[in-house]
Amino acid sequence: MMPDLFRTLAFRLTLWYAGIFTVSSCVAFVFFYFLVSHTILNRIDQDLLDKANGFSAVLSVKGVAGVKNLAVLEARAAGEKKSFFRLLYPNGQVFATSHMAYWKNISVGEAAVNDLISGTKNVFETVTLSPGSQQVRVLYHRSGAGVILQTGLSMETYSHFFVAFKRVFIVAMAVVVLLSALCGWFLSKKALSGVGAVTETASRISGSNLDARVPETGNQDELDYLAKTFNKMLDRIAGLVANIREMSDNIAHDLKSPITRIRGLAEITLVQGGDKQAFESMASSTIEESDRLLDMINTMLVISRADAGEGGFRFEPVDLSTLVIEACDLFGPVAEDRGVQLECTTAARAGVMADIAMVQRCLTNLIDNALKYTPARGRVWIEVDAGPSDWVEIRVHDTGEGIREADYERIFERFYRVDPSRSEAGAGLGLCLARAIARGHGGDVTVTSVLDGGSCFSITLPKGNVRVI
Ligand code: ADP
Repeated sequence: MMPDLFRTLAFRLTLWYAGIFTVSSCVAFVFFYFLVSHTILNRIDQDLLDKANGFSAVLSVKGVAGVKNLAVLEARAAGEKKSFFRLLYPNGQVFATSHMAYWKNISVGEAAVNDLISGTKNVFETVTLSPGSQQVRVLYHRSGAGVILQTGLSMETYSHFFVAFKRVFIVAMAVVVLLSALCGWFLSKKALSGVGAVTETASRISGSNLDARVPETGNQDELDYLAKTFNKMLDRIAGLVANIREMSDNIAHDLKSPITRIRGLAEITLVQGGDKQAFESMASSTIEESDRLLDMINTMLVISRADAGEGGFRFEPVDLSTLVIEACDLFGPVAEDRGVQLECTTAARAGVMADIAMVQRCLTNLIDNALKYTPARGRVWIEVDAGPSDWVEIRVHDTGEGIREADYERIFERFYRVDPSRSEAGAGLGLCLARAIARGHGGDVTVTSVLDGGSCFSITLPKGNVRVI
C-alpha cells in the first residue's frame, strides 16, 4: 500500500527544503535591501550636507542675496522638482526661499528647529510630499551667521530602487521557490530510494519466506548501514524461527513418545484382558510416564519464569561448599555404578545469597550430565573457587566425550541435544534450566571443552552482601 503523497517523507522533505531555501533567500534579500537603501540614503544625506555647506559659505561671503541666486541656479540646473531651500531665522520666520510652488506642502519642522537651537548642527527628516507620492529628504542646517537653512532633495533614486527591487524580488522568489521545490523533490527521492528497497523487501517477507534480503550498495552510507542492519535482523529472525521450529519438533517428539507408550500399554492390557496384576503394572507405568511428563512441563515452566525474571527465588545465605559436598555424597553411588571416579575440592568460605533448592537443581544437572557423558574409568571432579573476587565459582570437570565449540551455546537451548539419536536419557532441558537459574541469581553457567578430552562447566554466582557463614 502506497502512502498518501502529502504524508510521504519525500513530500515533507521537499516542503522543508523549499521552506528553508525560501526563508534564507528572503533573509538575503532583506539584508541586501537594507544595505543598498542605507547606502542610497547616505549618499542623499551627503549631497544635502555638501549643498548646505556651500550655502553656508556663500551666505557668509555674499549674504542672503548670494544664497538666493545660488539656489535659483542650482534649482534650475537640477530641476525645480528636484530640490528646494528655505532660509529662516532661529524663531522660525522664513526670510528667503527658492521657487516653492512644487514644495508648498513641506512646512518647517518645529522639532527640528528646536533641535538646532539646542545645539545640534544638522537635523535630517524624511517627509512625504503628498499622500502616496514620492518622499523627500530634508536637512535643517545651522549656518554660522545665525541663520537656519532648510533644504530638501527628492528621493527619486531611492523610489526607483525600491520599485526595481520589488520587481526583482517577486521574480527571484518565484524562481527560488520553484527551483528549491524541484531540487528538494529530486534530492529526497534520491536519498529515500534505499528506504524503498527495504520496504519492498519487507513486504516480500512472509512467515514462511524469510529468504529475501535488501541489496547492499557498499557505499558505507546511512542507507547501506540500514540495509546491512535490516539484513542482519532478518538473519537473526530466520535463526530464531528455525530454532522455534526445531524446538516445537523436539517438544512434539518428547511429548509424543511417553504418551504413545502409555497408550500402547493401555491398549495391550485391554486387548489381552489381563488379570489384576497386569492392570496394576499398567497403572504404575502410566504414573511413571506421567511423572516424567509432568517433570518436563514443570521444568519448562521454571525456565520460562526464570527467563522472564519471575523466578520467585527465595534468597537466603547459602554455603556452596556444603552444597557441593552434599551433592557429591548424593551422586557417589551413581558414579560408582558407572565406574566413574567422583571427587570434590571445596573452599573454606563460599557464601552467596541464593535459593538453595534452585542452586541444588542447577548443580545436580551439571553433575548428572558429567557422569552421564563420561565413560567408565573416567573421572569427574568438582571445585569450589571463592577467591578474592566478588564471585564464587563452581567448576564441574569431566573426562567425557567433550563438546564441539560450535555447540557451546546451542547446548543451553531448550531441547537441544548434541546426539539427535537421544541414546542417553534426558529431554535437553537440564543445561537450559541450570543457566536460567544461575542468570536469575545474577550469575551464569558457561562451558569449555576438548572434544574426546572432557568438559568443564562453570557456575558463577555473585557473593552479594553475604558475610561469612
Ligand atoms: P540432556 O537431558 O540431553 O542431558 P542437557 O540440557 O542437560 O540435556 O544437555 C544438552 C546436551 O549437551 C546433551 O544432550 C549433551 O549432548 C550435551 N552435554 C551436556 N553436558 C555434557 C557433558 N558433560 N559432556 C558432553 N556433552 C554434554
